[in-house]
Amino acid sequence: MKNATANRRLTLLVMRDAQHSVKQIHLSKPLLLAVPAAAVLSLSGLVLAIQAHSSQAISNLEQKVTLEQLKNIQLQSSITSREQSIERLQTEIIKLSSQAKDMQLKMQHVDQLEQQLQKFIDKHKISMSTDAPADKASSLSWDASEHVGGEYIAVHENDMLDLARETKDDFQEMQELLKTMESNIPHTLKKAQETQVQIAGNPTVWPTASKVMTSSFGYRTDPFTGKAAFHAGIDIAGDNGGPVYAAGAGKVITAEESGARGRYIVIEHPGGLQTWYMHLSKILVNIGDTVDKRQQIAQLGSTGRSTGPHLHFQVVKQDKPVNPLPYIRSDNSLN
Ligand SMILES: [Zn+2]
Repeated sequence: MKNATANRRLTLLVMRDAQHSVKQIHLSKPLLLAVPAAAVLSLSGLVLAIQAHSSQAISNLEQKVTLEQLKNIQLQSSITSREQSIERLQTEIIKLSSQAKDMQLKMQHVDQLEQQLQKFIDKHKISMSTDAPADKASSLSWDASEHVGGEYIAVHENDMLDLARETKDDFQEMQELLKTMESNIPHTLKKAQETQVQIAGNPTVWPTASKVMTSSFGYRTDPFTGKAAFHAGIDIAGDNGGPVYAAGAGKVITAEESGARGRYIVIEHPGGLQTWYMHLSKILVNIGDTVDKRQQIAQLGSTGRSTGPHLHFQVVKQDKPVNPLPYIRSDNSLN
């Protein structure tokens, strides 16, 4: 269909069929060259377009990937922060547990002190109930098993830290309470001990083996003169050389021989009372000695102004002799 006729021109013959004439189309060389060039150009345009489209698609994909990565990072940071929260919680819990152990030790200490006090009070309950007003310490009771714990509260993640802090506050409050108890109980114990010393010092023991009273406290007819006279104590008949006991714990302030009293001892008791023991045959203690309740301090005799072996026993309260019987009457320990 194409035919070259000249150097610079090309002629194209277009034949359709027998009824139509042949058409001639003259084309210059440059135009002929331009056609493939245009084709090439349009192809490269297509390639460029495809490239552009691809790069757009890639860019979109990249964006999507970046978004995913961002989400990943966010997720990871949320995981990290959650892990940190858990770590903080664990730290709090460890702290609490160590505080709990500390408190347990303190409670045990308090419990021991309380038991010590209770033992002490139990041991002397009888004498305390008869001799002294009930010590307030006896009403002190503390049961560790009943005072720990508290209600159970279910824990949700975000409340965990708050709860841990609240619990810590509770612990601190309890620790303060324990501190107070720790300082109070030894004080109560000391008071109980002081009371006990005083109780032990109260003259309650019948002072001889014999219980035969020959003269009571108060006004009587004097055995020597036959006239009315005041008798400052009680007389208890007994065997010469028989034991004489300290009616209560105390300190010997007099141990000597003197006229009408004969050999005699005076004991001063912690509560302020004094007991006097007269007409002794032998003194077994010295001035300044500390004696226990029921300790033998002398032997019964008849020294001084006496008609026969007996013990003159006297209780002195604030420098005045008082009837000894209310103090020693209930004592049956020597029966
Ligand atoms: Zn007498």
